[in-house]
Amino acid sequence: MKRYSAFAIAREAARYHTGWERAWRSPEPKTHYDVIIIGAGGHGLATAYYLGKNHGIRNVAIIEKGWLGGGNTGRNTTIIRSNYLQDPSAAIYEKSRSLYETLSQDLNYNIMFSPRGLIMLAQTHHEVRGYQRTAYANALQGVKTEFISPARVKQLVPIMDISGPRYPVLGGLYQARGGTARHDAVAWGYARACSDMGMDVLQKTEVTAVRSEGGTVTGVETSRGIIGCKKLSIVVAGHSGHVAEMAGFRLPIESVALQALVSEPIKPCMDVVVMANTVHGYMSQSDKGEMVIGGGTDGYNNYTQRGSFHHIEETVRALIETFPMISRLKMLRQWGGIVDITGDRSPILSKTPLGNCFINAGWGTGGFKAIPGSGWAMAELVAKGEPGPLAAAFGLDRFREGRFIDESVAAGVAH
Ligand SMILES: Cc1cc2nc3c(=O)[nH]c(=O)nc-3n(C[C@H](O)[C@H](O)[C@H](O)COP(=O)(O)OP(=O)(O)OC[C@H]3O[C@@H](n4cnc5c(N)ncnc54)[C@H](O)[C@@H]3O)c2cc1C
Repeated sequence: MKRYSAFAIAREAARYHTGWERAWRSPEPKTHYDVIIIGAGGHGLATAYYLGKNHGIRNVAIIEKGWLGGGNTGRNTTIIRSNYLQDPSAAIYEKSRSLYETLSQDLNYNIMFSPRGLIMLAQTHHEVRGYQRTAYANALQGVKTEFISPARVKQLVPIMDISGPRYPVLGGLYQARGGTARHDAVAWGYARACSDMGMDVLQKTEVTAVRSEGGTVTGVETSRGIIGCKKLSIVVAGHSGHVAEMAGFRLPIESVALQALVSEPIKPCMDVVVMANTVHGYMSQSDKGEMVIGGGTDGYNNYTQRGSFHHIEETVRALIETFPMISRLKMLRQWGGIVDITGDRSPILSKTPLGNCFINAGWGTGGFKAIPGSGWAMAELVAKGEPGPLAAAFGLDRFREGRFIDESVAAGVAH
């Protein structure tokens, strides 16, 4: 694979951009792989990348029923942060955030990581206490956050009205190196690097059944035939329950649509990501100028990847007191993605009842930020057959044993 560089851009400009290679190959499936990963979202692709990079396992297929990044990875609002409360969460999310810092260089692909800073607004006294507690916990965990005053919030986000009659801004949990990245680019960058290592990214290939013998997976049935494997990794987010059922086990997960919307593009007015958990809404401004607004989940389980009108009204109404300017914005489009939610709002990176089958799921409304860290931890689990320190707490057995990692506050708003 030719490297992308300033020199390559100049060379291609001189020859009318006729010399660019395809970013990844579209091969025919082989009959057998060392590892099959179901799902070419960010988590599946990152798992493959770190399997190759950290563990030297490169005979890998990533099987995707649609197009790569076409699931939640290409539908999310791209918030990256690691200000979680519990130690195992802070560890994996901070590992991920720190990998994002150099991901463009690692992948030789511009993922547009923008550590512009992120504020979680405290708009009730309960939230003030909660976020101060998180800031202290983060200090012990080595995650850099601080609780800031209303005046500092106003200084960082001048368009905000902090004196709202119902929900005044009483402070905020600020992570200066939180921010955003370009979601498709994360998927594309990993796919290109995986393809370059000789791995096969098989798009438009649906897994329809999992084959096993005596408690061991032997392969998968797909819309392009049967493919054998030594190890199987299921990384399909909102479809986890469905694919786990094919493999013969059940998951403590609910699948539900999460929605978001964007406004028409406007001039730059907000260079920080703001989350307002009490009123339930969050907002950032994209490089194109659109205000990217995150809403909530549907109130019932479903597999519809689409938006609905009442969510626009609910979400905009929630934000208008703090951001009066959005009352004059036209909303451009909305959409939905199917997220996989666990009872304790923490993910699952786990062995399964099948000896050589592993599952990565349950990132719910907040797994974009976790893609590099999750891939790193999942690759270790698949390569060694046992979880490393980052994944150890996130096994399926925690639901049987009652060892929950309760992140319902940190994940209280959909992000
Ligand atoms: C509206 C919205 C906003 C969000 N905002 C944020 C945010 O701001 N920050 C954040 O951190 N997270 C956010 N998230 C959550 C984040 O998008 C997800 O947690 C993350 O993208 C999950 O990645 P994934 O790779 O696990 O799943 P996906 O990207 O969904 O990939 C799974 C893939 O598996 C494929 N698949 C399923 N079944 C099969 C099968 N049988 N055969 C083959 N392939 C199959 C699917 O087609 C899909 O491409 C948001 C999500 C949504 C929907």
